[in-house]
Amino acid sequence: MALFPTHTGMVDLLPGETEKWQYLESLVREVARRYHFKEIRTPILEPTEMIARGVGQLTDIVSKEMFAFDRGDDHYVLRPEGTASVCRAYVQHHLDQRGGAQRLFYIGPMFRAERPQKGRQRQFHQFGAEILGSADPLADAEIIAFMVEVYRLVGITNMKLNINSVGDPESRQRYRETLVAYFTPVKDKLSEVSKTRLEVNPMRILDSKEEEDQAWIADAPVITDYLNQECRDHYEQVKAHLNALGIAFIEQPRLVRGLDYYTKTAFELTSPDLGSQDALGGGGRYDLLVEELGGAPTPAVGFASGMERLMIACEALGLPLGESAKPEVYIACHGQAARAWALSQADVLRKQGISCLFDTGGRSMKAQMKEADREHATWCLLVGDTELTSGHFVLRNMSTSTEETLDLSAIHERVRL
Ligand code: AMP
Repeated sequence: MALFPTHTGMVDLLPGETEKWQYLESLVREVARRYHFKEIRTPILEPTEMIARGVGQLTDIVSKEMFAFDRGDDHYVLRPEGTASVCRAYVQHHLDQRGGAQRLFYIGPMFRAERPQKGRQRQFHQFGAEILGSADPLADAEIIAFMVEVYRLVGITNMKLNINSVGDPESRQRYRETLVAYFTPVKDKLSEVSKTRLEVNPMRILDSKEEEDQAWIADAPVITDYLNQECRDHYEQVKAHLNALGIAFIEQPRLVRGLDYYTKTAFELTSPDLGSQDALGGGGRYDLLVEELGGAPTPAVGFASGMERLMIACEALGLPLGESAKPEVYIACHGQAARAWALSQADVLRKQGISCLFDTGGRSMKAQMKEADREHATWCLLVGDTELTSGHFVLRNMSTSTEETLDLSAIHERVRL
């Protein structure tokens, strides 16, 4: 047992896993390249007021799950998600003046004080993308296509895309009133969480997982019946674009998301390979958020996906996730002079772009050969006083177990192949 283990819900990523992460991150970057989204990196600590305003005071994320602290007069929060920060940066750095819609993506850690379980951590990682400055349903389709393409490239095909429209404030006001009128007479039969939600945020009742709410939710009015013409048209066009792209989706009129800022399109991608936390990612349109954070009215749409969930799905499916790094050359050395030589020879090889490892612990030749094997080195170069004097060295091909005696320039030529 470690003397100081991590806090619950915080996970170390160890060698053997980090390579898999790098591989998946490289695929996200590759999709970003193909769709021409540019990376944005924002601070992990954000002003608490900004996150509260952006994500929404009444959301679980802000009201219950923030890691926040004060320092002097400043209020800091570990960011719980990426979109609000991207919008803050967009306003702060006048990214609108760069011309055209901004197509941005990010990968990084997020923090929510949730109850940890499989696929749900307190520090987790998201990749996401945003298009800021476009009201066009084409932008919604681009964002959904980006998200789906990451999974396709990774090799995950068994997914379900649920979509809905959560309307604009006008449509939502009408719907909210209808929902309150529907749920109020049965308030006593609802779960405690839903009772509270009825007061503060009735649409979130639809998100309840509580058993006693399900029957009421199943018969509740749906928002799609309350959309105004503009929201209805937008939704129809998004669906038409997805059909044109061959992206299958399921209309899910009770889909609401845990963040307050969504308008019009909302979507979620789920996988049956994930268990109870089955959401791979989700997103939607947030036409009012930039303005909420002090910017000019800027329609926008985005998605965020969980890296851990992606990893769990890959492992459940047994997908190959890149290879562990291997040294190309292992220098096994006997004696003080050989070790000093190994340091400078490794330097020469590394500067030529060859990965090289040697023993810094003065271990036996046998132990060093074992390590070369364990690390799956391609070549092992054997060096002792005799070799240093003669200028000829034994080069062992680790996969065929054959050896050759060569001078240094021949060795360089061989290992560069
Ligand atoms: P959200 O920002 O809540 O829309 O979440 C987007 C995605 O991030 C989810 O679909 C999950 O894949 C992932 N996610 C959210 N919260 C967590 C968490 N606590 N642990 C791991 N992944 C999470």
